[in-house]
Amino acid sequence: MQKTPIIGLSKDELKEAVVSLGEKPFRAKQLWQWLYFKGVCSFDEMTDLSKDLRQKLNDNFVLERPKIVTEQISKDKTHKWLLEFADGERVETVYIPESDRGAVCISTQVGCLMGCKFCHTGSQKLTRNLTAGEIVSQFMVARDSYHEWPSPTDQTRFLSNIVVMGMGEPLQNKENVIKALNILSDGDGIAISRRRITMSTCGIVPEINPVLEQTGVRLAISLHASNDATRSSLMPINKVYNIAKIIKACQQYQSKDGSRYITFEYLMLNGINDSEQNAKELIDLLKKNKIRATFNLIPFNPWPGCGFEPSKDENIKKFAELLNKAGFACPVRVARGQDILAACGQLKSKHNN
Ligand code: SAH
Ligand code: SF4
Repeated sequence: MQKTPIIGLSKDELKEAVVSLGEKPFRAKQLWQWLYFKGVCSFDEMTDLSKDLRQKLNDNFVLERPKIVTEQISKDKTHKWLLEFADGERVETVYIPESDRGAVCISTQVGCLMGCKFCHTGSQKLTRNLTAGEIVSQFMVARDSYHEWPSPTDQTRFLSNIVVMGMGEPLQNKENVIKALNILSDGDGIAISRRRITMSTCGIVPEINPVLEQTGVRLAISLHASNDATRSSLMPINKVYNIAKIIKACQQYQSKDGSRYITFEYLMLNGINDSEQNAKELIDLLKKNKIRATFNLIPFNPWPGCGFEPSKDENIKKFAELLNKAGFACPVRVARGQDILAACGQLKSKHNN
């Protein structure tokens, strides 16, 4: 009989599993704590469970992390893992440290179907969706590396945030992503608060609000263009869900709570989307539609064979100034881990080109 991976079961599923082994439901609570609060890597370490139950768990479930195939640390301390799951499929996970905190960037799919022209992952096709357990366990591997078990309190943790900005489009794998985000943010376990989790999407419009309602995490949208002609040339999904449809979804999201902000990610591509005219178009678009937003200007990270160039520094600066002046906070994202191809859009599971 094939054993079930235990990482990735929801609280209710874990309860059912424990009951099906002939145990009292409250044992699930202890199990949850061992798995996600203490972060142990074997059932045998769960010392307050009876030997008999530990044996039954060993007989029916597997408790394992993905295999670390390679691990690289960049000059700027960005840490990248190439991870391999039981079937041999691989993804990359990245930890981006700041002085007193840091974000773990997790992947949701092996490859991506969306085919954005600037993205290394997008040049790779989709192999498969990751399971909830595979999404959660990427963060657990990162925590293992930094010995952050049991789950530390907010003030002391290095791994303080999660960004769903690795390989894949999360809203193309929504069931597993919802389940994973709810495990990662559960206060009795890994306990990364929902406000510290940001999910980035290329704009699968009908899924945006349902997934945010079911997870409570923050929203980032990969906008990357100020008009449909440019966006469609960069991101094929724009032919299905154009900018107007994205804006409508944003309005719906913000109408429920006046404090909700949206982050727009905007890749700066030389001569393509980085003119003053483009900045003005963006400002008009958001003002006209009363969207409360922050921009994140992303310097383009080139990869072999991509065919785009990063914008010139002075153009990025001018663009940011215009948005700032119009009332939109506009930090320029500092590229991290470029020397180990760990920066945005550089992740790829096959290292053969
Ligand atoms: N699929 C989701 C999340 C993963 S991509 C999305 O598209 O939003 C995470 C971010 O990296 C996106 O904003 C994406 O547009 C950006 N990105 C992709 N390729 C890039 C590159 N070559 N340089 C810099 N950022 C890139
Ligand atoms: Fe997929 Fe996001 Fe890359 Fe586009 S940018 S190809 S949606 S991972």
